[in-house]
Amino acid sequence: MAEITESKNFIHAFIDEDIAEGGRYEGATVHTRFPPEPNGYLHIGHCKALIIDFGTAEKYNGLCNLRMDDTNPTKEDVEFVEAIKEDIHWLGFDWGDRFFYGSDYFEKDYEFAVELIKKGLAYVCELTPEQAKEMRGDLNTPATSPFRDRPIEESLDLFARMRAGEFEDNKYTLRAKIDLASGNFNMRDPVIYRIRHMHHHRQGDKWCIYPMYDFAHPIQDALEGITHSLCSLEFENHRPLYNWVVENVSVPHHPRQIEFARLGIDHTVLSKRYLRALVEEGFVAGWDDPRMPTLCGMRRRGFTPASIRNFCERVGVAKSPNTIPLAFLDFCLREDLNESAARVMGVLKPIKLTITNYPEGQSETMEVENNPNRPEDGNRLVTFSRNLWIEADDFLAEPIPKYKRLFPGGPECRLKGAYVIQCIGYNTDENGNVVEVLATYDPNSRGGDPADGRKIKGATIHWVDAETAVDAEVRLYDNLFNAESPDTSSMEGLVKDLNPNSLEILQGCKLESSLRDAQPGQSFQFMRLGYFTPDSKDSSPDHLVFNRSVSLKDSFKPGK
Ligand code: ATP
Ligand code: MG
Repeated sequence: MAEITESKNFIHAFIDEDIAEGGRYEGATVHTRFPPEPNGYLHIGHCKALIIDFGTAEKYNGLCNLRMDDTNPTKEDVEFVEAIKEDIHWLGFDWGDRFFYGSDYFEKDYEFAVELIKKGLAYVCELTPEQAKEMRGDLNTPATSPFRDRPIEESLDLFARMRAGEFEDNKYTLRAKIDLASGNFNMRDPVIYRIRHMHHHRQGDKWCIYPMYDFAHPIQDALEGITHSLCSLEFENHRPLYNWVVENVSVPHHPRQIEFARLGIDHTVLSKRYLRALVEEGFVAGWDDPRMPTLCGMRRRGFTPASIRNFCERVGVAKSPNTIPLAFLDFCLREDLNESAARVMGVLKPIKLTITNYPEGQSETMEVENNPNRPEDGNRLVTFSRNLWIEADDFLAEPIPKYKRLFPGGPECRLKGAYVIQCIGYNTDENGNVVEVLATYDPNSRGGDPADGRKIKGATIHWVDAETAVDAEVRLYDNLFNAESPDTSSMEGLVKDLNPNSLEILQGCKLESSLRDAQPGQSFQFMRLGYFTPDSKDSSPDHLVFNRSVSLKDSFKPGK
């Protein structure tokens, strides 16, 4: 696992330096924020940012704010805001009473823009977006704007009239006056306000000018007293502008921006834009489809908060982008559930097994351990009788070499926790399909070990008592994408890379009766088959539906 475990966290190293240096961090509480755009559900990539933001605050006994980044007046939805809060709480993080909206600072943003104009550090520009693009220069040629030296009074007047709604979209912009020759194009007099006659989901029609993210974000951070603004790597080239803003407007704090690499996972896309398209175009059943890399989808699939936090922590905080195997995520879930999940028996593709020498009408109860890793979870009772269900592939009419399970005249096998049996034959229907397996049992092997201590050569197989079994639908999942690195150049490309076999639905599965009362959020190890949880949307006492969270087989190879 060497390659995906990075023990030193460079963000913490930077913060340690800041604290040691004193200065503006003297005595300050480490204060971070998580700023999601409420235009979709959180995905596993966001978890990494959450763990960095909230985790860093936790480590330094500091604070972390939750701020909805609704600076853009695009479609935002209360549904998303509530879902984001629920997901963060589910992961185990809390923002206390520090929940904010970026748009709450619009008035302040405006005041700071006016301050910049008054200082001669911003001007109203009249270039259309196309003209501005043409005049932005290149590495050897500085940008130009004929409006750069517009008198302060004139800019103040125009900016006020922009706000008052006198002009149509794009007629004017407000630009910061920084450096037209800068090698960093973000510093070539970036636009900090533009005209957009658009309704804002919280501000209504109060505004027709909106601040750009690069201007609004540092102000939001500074006003909230954020000390360390942790963001993903695409903002690295924006850091000089971030610093310029906090240095040139009269905000009380100067936060430090530190960037980290985004999390990438193979066979997955982590972009709300594409996830949303998969939902809207019906390729998945919703944001919470258990195949989705969203937190709500993963929760429904049976992921635990601990497994996700562990995954993100072990992936570590890197400065360079890296792609983590999806199998490692499964590995982390399996590891957590192995400790916590109760062991039960369920048969997914059932065939009848009749114990011919077990008296008809008789039944007994076996006491079995719930979880060998947690003796404190105690035992439960399962019933045993003459009529059982076993997995169809635990029987072969004609054995293949090395087959150690049931076939006529084959080796003795153990029924897990019950008795030793031996297959003596089978019955078929009129088409020749096997419908019933016949076996005899050794009454002196209760619990699974024969009284005479003889060696059992066959396998141990799982079973369910047909007299008490409950029926269930079981959903098995595979990767949503076949391609290791799905084609995100177009929606068609992405759709082509989908795995058509990512969902397999099994009906008529037979589960031990204790699962009748299973609740979503509970996980079970179905022996030999994997970890399962009741589906939070579709499972009911009349129609049980279980999702396979992860199989038992580990395809994750450390170091690969
Ligand atoms: P998307 O492309 O999914 O829309 P985004 O960055 O636009 O992602 P935001 O809602 O703005 O989504 O993200 C909130 C925070 O989560 C940001 O600070 C962003 O850097 C971080 N984040 C988003 N995706 C990832 C990722 N894959 N790995 C790490 N951090 C991420
Ligand atoms: Mg974003």
